Amino acid sequence: MSGAMASAEPGVVTIRAAPLRAVARAIVGAAGSQPDEAALVAGQLVESNLTGHDSHGVGLLPRYVEVFRLGRLRPNQHASIAADTGPLLTLDGNMGYGQVIAYEAMQLGIERARQWGVAVVALANSHHIGRIGHWAEQCVAAGMVSMHYVNAISQPVVAPFGGRDARFVTNPFCVGLPRPGGEPIVLDFATSRIAMGKVRLARNRGVEVGPDTLLDGHGQPTCDPNVMYRLPFGALLPFGEHKGYGLAVICELLGGALTGGRTLHERTPGREVINNMLTVIIDPQRLGTGANFAAELAQFEAWVKASPLAPGVDRVRLPGEPEQEHRRERHANGIPIDRITWEEIVRAGAELRLARPELERLAELA
Ligand code: NAD
Repeated sequence: MSGAMASAEPGVVTIRAAPLRAVARAIVGAAGSQPDEAALVAGQLVESNLTGHDSHGVGLLPRYVEVFRLGRLRPNQHASIAADTGPLLTLDGNMGYGQVIAYEAMQLGIERARQWGVAVVALANSHHIGRIGHWAEQCVAAGMVSMHYVNAISQPVVAPFGGRDARFVTNPFCVGLPRPGGEPIVLDFATSRIAMGKVRLARNRGVEVGPDTLLDGHGQPTCDPNVMYRLPFGALLPFGEHKGYGLAVICELLGGALTGGRTLHERTPGREVINNMLTVIIDPQRLGTGANFAAELAQFEAWVKASPLAPGVDRVRLPGEPEQEHRRERHANGIPIDRITWEEIVRAGAELRLARPELERLAELA
């Protein structure tokens, strides 16, 4: 079957998951990564597109290529162990691709949780680790509960509650709960009103973002995504007022400080995104409460889903369900990519001597 698909939306190209992975593998490989690394990076980016999080999908490739060309993203690195006390592991990501570093960190953590019942993995100094739900999914696939607190060192883009300019990044928080025989529960979000990548997509698509999301460079509310791309820079607001802001602070300090990483306390000039992540992994079997957990979860789910529906809502969902729905739909119908993002990807390939016809052939667009 062809990877390219007719798209109803103008300005959009629709590509199936496998050819899109081939494009991403080729670009990462052309930047010097071994095939295994290229496959991990491509796998996670396309999985983000499949789950509906285009902000963390293949649209990140041009940024990764730029940071690689600046010498700040180092191919073929691995997580190294800085401290190891059994259930507690402190790892350094050596500024390698986060898709490799976080994968290795979770594998180590899962092994330790199997051995000890619980593991705490402190990961510092990785390049961007993308969609955090991917790491929770790795843990739940092994039957583990996981909690992830993440900070990022990059240009500040989020204002503190009560502040008027950007002081930190979109610090994501994530929890994964396995469900034997069913889809896992995965709560995974940026602590800003929307992820920064969604501002980029709104800008590429020429649309506004919702109200109460952005401040302009003078600290005034706006819906114009362009304020994040011109001086004086604007700021995203935290979600949930003081509560979301408080969670962002906790992610900054557990993710950035307790791991041995850094917190943001100055404007950083680089284009790289350094992620630090504190992960707690629990083996539910070792708590001896697995049967109770499954029974309570089923009853609670039925209870919340029986709530009368608000206008325009088709059903109540648990966290993780929207991503599963997107996966089913995009596996069936392909992944829509806006033309600006596609052209940025083609340009990034050209910088690595991958010609447009080759990328279009891989994408099955030719
Ligand atoms: P979002 O606002 O789309 O929220 C997603 C979460 O809400 C998911 O758990 C989803 O299942 C749940 N959800 C959505 N609609 C729901 C509904 N109707 N009912 C029940 N649950 C529902 O996510 P976001 O804040 O835009 O974040 C997008 C991605 O960006 C995340 O994967 C995050 O990890 C990633 N991110 C990464 C970084 C980084 O530095 N690496 C920084 C910020 C965000």
